[in-house]
Amino acid sequence: MTDPVAPKRFEGNFTQQEAIPEDAIQQAIEVMRSGRLHRYNVAAADELSETALLEQEYAAYQGQRYALALASGGYAMQTALRAIGLQPGDAVLTNAFTLSPVPGAIDAVGGKPVLVETTSDLVIDIDHLDVQAKASGARVLMLSHMRGHIADMDAIVELTKKYNITLIEDCAHTMGASFDDVRSGNHGQIACFSTQTYKHMNSGEGGFLTTNDDTLMARAIVLSGSYMLYERHAAGPPPQAFKEVRLQTPNCSGRMDNLRAAILRPQIRSLDENCKRWNERFDVIMSTLKPCNVIALAQPHPKAKEVSSSFQFSIPDYSDEQNQQFLAQCFDRGVELKWFGAIDPVAYTSRYESWAYVESANLAQTNQVLHRLYDCRIPLTFSIDDCKQIAQIIVEEARNIVV
Ligand SMILES: *Cc1c(COP(=O)(O)O)cnc(C)c1O
Repeated sequence: MTDPVAPKRFEGNFTQQEAIPEDAIQQAIEVMRSGRLHRYNVAAADELSETALLEQEYAAYQGQRYALALASGGYAMQTALRAIGLQPGDAVLTNAFTLSPVPGAIDAVGGKPVLVETTSDLVIDIDHLDVQAKASGARVLMLSHMRGHIADMDAIVELTKKYNITLIEDCAHTMGASFDDVRSGNHGQIACFSTQTYKHMNSGEGGFLTTNDDTLMARAIVLSGSYMLYERHAAGPPPQAFKEVRLQTPNCSGRMDNLRAAILRPQIRSLDENCKRWNERFDVIMSTLKPCNVIALAQPHPKAKEVSSSFQFSIPDYSDEQNQQFLAQCFDRGVELKWFGAIDPVAYTSRYESWAYVESANLAQTNQVLHRLYDCRIPLTFSIDDCKQIAQIIVEEARNIVV
């Protein structure tokens, strides 16, 4: 039996997201008509702004006591690091396989990234994490759930307890996901999310920080630039939490505004449905790639319920030439793959060696994993048939290049 051959070329656009929902557009127009775009600009003292309401709704979705809406995911990570009291020169453990805003956030607050190896399942290597925790004496782990792959969180939490490490989770790719039926982001002390256009909710730019800790949230709110209006946070701690914090904490403005909050509120209501739609697309892609014997795929942890808004695969046996040929042939057929092995960073992808400001490390296992690792987004503008066609093209081109 031969598989049906995919049409010659895929014509979809890999960076085209869905439109903002109509109710969100209407609410954004209301905010603009009101002129009250700043989060603390309310008509009556007891009124909750769009941003305060968004925080309340996101905290409820996430199942955490407190949520703070911010200017970006990267800013949320910086704020988390400052809120836990990170001092300049302090070591911060983090994934070698992640994106540039992660080491960037650590560097922005004067921290020193200590990179940890990656497994073939594209998660942090817990044995190497143990080694690096011991060697560096770091008391913070910025754990990046890169591309939605969730590590064994039971083992991570155990290790952070063993070394008295504060766990901050970078959930830019795991909004809506869970591990052992606990939402991703709720295993550590603080979680950071992004609502930038290519993430699971879209406000152009934006982010969240969530926690259950009164003092951490009080500090984060003041850091975000609350002036002395911190009591207008519906998803913040009680006023006494600010007593020790309000004059000790600098204002490092990075607030969200009511316009973006209005765009996001209705998107929380469709988040779970969208996560389901991503996974339906991902499943079709995986079931098409799986039978191809040159392609290797990461195995999710059995306790992880991931949201796969992108997919990765590797073809370990390709030579440099075959790698270039494979990328070019897929590109010719309209399938834009990103290659994580490229030494020079391209668009959003980068590998750890290109973060020249980070103390250099030679991570042989991560190098091996990234060497022939390909990456592709799944925008929800793609139909199930589109996804099937993309995967068929990949398989056909992979088979055309004989190793
Ligand atoms: C996008 C992203 C961030 C940061 O989000 P921004 O809102 O762009 O600052 C953090 N970590 C990862 C892995 C990301 O992909």
